[in-house]
Amino acid sequence: MRADNDVTRIITTMPEVQELLRTADAIYHKGWAERNGGNLSRLLILPNEPDFYVQREFPLTIDVPENLLGQLVIITGSGVYLKNVMREPEASLALLRIRPDRAELLWGLSGTFDRPSSELAAHLLSHGVRLAADPSHRVLVHTHATNAVAMSAVVPLDEREFTLKLWRQCTEAVMFLYDGVAVLPWMPCGTAEIGLRTADKLADRRAVIWARHGVFASGASADEALGLVEIIDKAAELYLKIAHLPVTFELSDEQLREMSALLGLTVREGYV
Ligand SMILES: [Zn+2]
Repeated sequence: MRADNDVTRIITTMPEVQELLRTADAIYHKGWAERNGGNLSRLLILPNEPDFYVQREFPLTIDVPENLLGQLVIITGSGVYLKNVMREPEASLALLRIRPDRAELLWGLSGTFDRPSSELAAHLLSHGVRLAADPSHRVLVHTHATNAVAMSAVVPLDEREFTLKLWRQCTEAVMFLYDGVAVLPWMPCGTAEIGLRTADKLADRRAVIWARHGVFASGASADEALGLVEIIDKAAELYLKIAHLPVTFELSDEQLREMSALLGLTVREGYV
């Protein structure tokens, strides 16, 4: 068995994990992870897997997606402050092997945080559907993106209306959010229920707004998943900045169709 510090070096120097650390830091600096808000996870493939031993087990009460069985997931710990993840990766992250009824802790949670994120169910269920929808999708981020949350307080929680309001704000919104943004009504977080409903939405989309809470987004990389939240938040910020002003121009259905045709995008059916 390798010494733990070797395992730590192997894991924390992987480019995919380095990207995750930078992303946690970036989310904090955007002001989207106050206190211990926000969490992120990645399906990980280790080219040369160390001889792990199971340090602890966490029972899973959800129906674990079959395509995750045996997979490795690295996820932030419950209570972890995203601002500290880059500095203290071994205390902040949990490397889990997913079994049908439990998650095995193989590395991490070396400090005072002793459980994976309370949104583990949402991450696992969502990884299952995203991986099925697009085999390149391996990262999920949940952040308290300020403008997206504020917009969920003033716009009806209707997915088409919400998405169209975002698309009309700026050119890039439809370019990158062509599949639309799902919206869930407010509900308590950290439950199997929010996990199930989030995964249901992510079956054919990459981002979900949790009303009065935050955004949950998927991508092939952490950059891509966070990038999606950035686009949503920018469009939401533009909307909020001008909603009270006499707006003289916004992107029309025709202009949205023109952009989509130009880029060869399949925008969400029935929206424009
Ligand atoms: Zn949250």
